[in-house]
Amino acid sequence: MELPAHVGVVGGGTMGASIAHVFLTAGATVTVVESDDDRVAAARRALEQSLQGAADRGKLPEGTDVDGLVGATSIVTGVEHLPPDTRLVVEAVPERVDLKQQILGAAAQRCPDAVLATNTSSLSVGAIGRDLPSGRLLGMHFFNPVPAQRLVELIRPPEVPDELVERVRGWVEALGKTAIVVDDAPGFATSRLGVAVGLEAIRMLEEGVASVEDIDTGMKLGYRWPVGPLELTDIVGLDVRLAIAEHLAQELGERFTPPQLLRDKVARGELGRKSGQGFHHWE
Ligand code: NAD
Repeated sequence: MELPAHVGVVGGGTMGASIAHVFLTAGATVTVVESDDDRVAAARRALEQSLQGAADRGKLPEGTDVDGLVGATSIVTGVEHLPPDTRLVVEAVPERVDLKQQILGAAAQRCPDAVLATNTSSLSVGAIGRDLPSGRLLGMHFFNPVPAQRLVELIRPPEVPDELVERVRGWVEALGKTAIVVDDAPGFATSRLGVAVGLEAIRMLEEGVASVEDIDTGMKLGYRWPVGPLELTDIVGLDVRLAIAEHLAQELGERFTPPQLLRDKVARGELGRKSGQGFHHWE
């Protein structure tokens, strides 16, 4: 299936810039929305770095004009500057229901024919879309780093029609990725399972079952995980995992209650790769 000619990405941070990257290299025209002029400049740098990095690693077709792609991308402040004929809007702003509701409400009005998608990693898509026209919002959960990750998890509130799910699946395939379709249940499929294993690994560490290295090596060599559960927690960010675990404990019960060791590390600022120290030490 052909991608929509024009795609809007709201939020040009870690995820938004690389979501813009994959739509651009697949041939769509992209408008990125940011909050102010400083963030516009930062989003442009992030997009340029993402594309240039891919070109340097030989991941883009020979002769791809990185400067041309960046130059052709509008980066604007405010959803009211999206082209009205935008057919897909992907929201990738911080993980706050009220902010996402406000942005998607404005996008629905500005782009009346657009499919609306949220890149939330844990919030209820139904709650985010509460005030939107019924059946217009679904979750399009991209993974980090977007150009390298092959999965997009589509989160489907019950009122979203089959036709829309299949259209978006076609767009995911046009990006060279694979979609899975999951109900709008807390943590969806990936966050719920990933966090469950990560929390159990932390509890095992607390109980002295094995060392950090041995738990991670066990899963890498024994179960062919590309990274171990503790290393993955470091990569995602201990604070991010703690917030998701708290949300899942509230929604699904005690089995997701964060272990004390996770709370202690976050309180000490040991947030994983981004702070230099988590379960592993990072240079
Ligand atoms: P981020 O903080 O890197 O980027 C968010 C961007 O949104 C920032 O550039 C910020 O300036 C911008 N923004 C804030 N308010 C805005 C507004 N009113 N209008 C336009 N832009 C605004 O965050 P991120 O890591 O890219 O996460 C974005 C979303 O993606 C979150 O919902 C997160 O849960 C989800 N997610 C993140 C990851 C990950 O690994 N980082 C993976 C999957 C999903």
